[in-house]
Amino acid sequence: MSDTPILFWFRRDLRLGDHEGLSAAAATGRPVIPVFIHDEVVETHGAAPKWRLGLGVEHFAGTLEGIGSKLILRRGKALDVLRDLIAQTGAGAVWWSRAYDPAAIARDTGVKEALKDDGIDAQSFRGHLLFQPWSVETKTGGFYKVFTPMWKSVRGRELAADISAVSELCAPSTWPASDDIEDWQMGAAMNRGADIVGKHVAVGEQEASTRLATFIRDRIAGYKDARDQMAERGTSMLSENLTYGEISPRRCWHAGWRALHDGKSGAETFLKELVWREFAYHLAYHTPRIIDQNWREEWDAFPWKDDERAAEVKAWKQGRTGIQLVDAAMREMYVTGYMHNRGRMIVASYLTKHLMTHWKVGQAWFDDCLIDWDPASNAMGWQWSAGSGPDATPYFRVFNPATQAEKFDEDRSYRARYLGELFANHGAEAEDYFAAIPKSWNMAISDDYPKPVVALDEGRQRALDAYQQRDE
Ligand code: FAD
Repeated sequence: MSDTPILFWFRRDLRLGDHEGLSAAAATGRPVIPVFIHDEVVETHGAAPKWRLGLGVEHFAGTLEGIGSKLILRRGKALDVLRDLIAQTGAGAVWWSRAYDPAAIARDTGVKEALKDDGIDAQSFRGHLLFQPWSVETKTGGFYKVFTPMWKSVRGRELAADISAVSELCAPSTWPASDDIEDWQMGAAMNRGADIVGKHVAVGEQEASTRLATFIRDRIAGYKDARDQMAERGTSMLSENLTYGEISPRRCWHAGWRALHDGKSGAETFLKELVWREFAYHLAYHTPRIIDQNWREEWDAFPWKDDERAAEVKAWKQGRTGIQLVDAAMREMYVTGYMHNRGRMIVASYLTKHLMTHWKVGQAWFDDCLIDWDPASNAMGWQWSAGSGPDATPYFRVFNPATQAEKFDEDRSYRARYLGELFANHGAEAEDYFAAIPKSWNMAISDDYPKPVVALDEGRQRALDAYQQRDE
């Protein structure tokens, strides 16, 4: 057996708890050199996800130091960096947790083949999913294109227990040099004000565990209904931590099941939502085109507008369409890096239907603004909303933001939190919004609230007419 060091390459798995690959590396007793690479995939991240990733990496470096180890930071093409580190450390193995989005798979496949050719033990372990995409099949051996049958097929599956946290990693005799994360400037594109969004992040494994515990204790029982109330903190907020692997989905799954067995009935819906995340990755794995092309090709002929500089698209991004619920949700994302799930559905429906704008325009803005940005869930969410995805809401089902507001923000407190021009009792977030936006947007809290860029019934009719013509 080799006693050369193992390079453990971290990506979306910034934790010590329930970590299959890292536990396996620790168990060998060989020196383990943890590495994070600002590589070709990270280079393409939007402003907020890149900034938030930087916070996660910095925090995780501290966690590793706490157990006497160290996170080596390097920038460059993943394969070049790994080869360089192998040469410097004499490592005989490079191990990592799998990522399942097409860009990561392309990178990892190339790295694995090349390292194996070099005679290196290149191994990948179960990554940030509950079920490996190839392990869930329909009765005829295909993959699920509809959520409910997939949910039914995985709901009863037994998953192994969580693995206890790694508490020690054998250090190499000498550590290779590391970059300083400050030099990477991962927040450089955060023009919207990292300080403002920073008030809303919860970074690292400990924060993620606290979030899960509080959610299970206080909110999961009533989650089924509370999750739709936009002003309430009815959901787990774990998407941010799941995105960077600060908590494993398996821990969330087991916690959900325990709550269900304890009679907290809302837990069933929570488990289902975790499987929506799985569904997104299964689709991205089996049909990678979901990331950047209409999943249903018949939508290629639809007269979407795709000018992201169009006045109405700008108004949508800037939260000044004149439709209160849409604007409140867009501003929520701008100041907190997060948007309520119902808000995401409403603003996506509004952009793709009332404004007849291609879902890719909205997807790109979310890619840039969300701290929980996830390539698979974001693509699926947009295609679901636009009608072009598998198991999508039909295009003719146009969300009416006014009716949605009556149901899900009845006392207007969500809108008041974000819309400073309209509500005297606005939240601090409404003021933060004006502090965060660029001067070029030319908006002030003393402005009159804008008139609708398109009247709701006119926009709805325009969308339905276009949809009907497409069928004729
Ligand atoms: P909870 O309600 O507590 O749910 C628990 C977990 O289940 C979430 O953390 C998430 O991992 C998963 N989940 C819940 N709903 C969904 C869903 N509809 N699809 C996939 N997974 C789900 N989610 C992201 O994590 N990143 C994205 O970039 C993203 N973009 C979206 C874009 C659009 C247009 C839409 C409609 C949805 C998008 N979602 C995305 C899904 C969903 O809005 C968020 O996962 C959810 O709001 C996160 O809040 P939470 O952690 O409190 O969720």
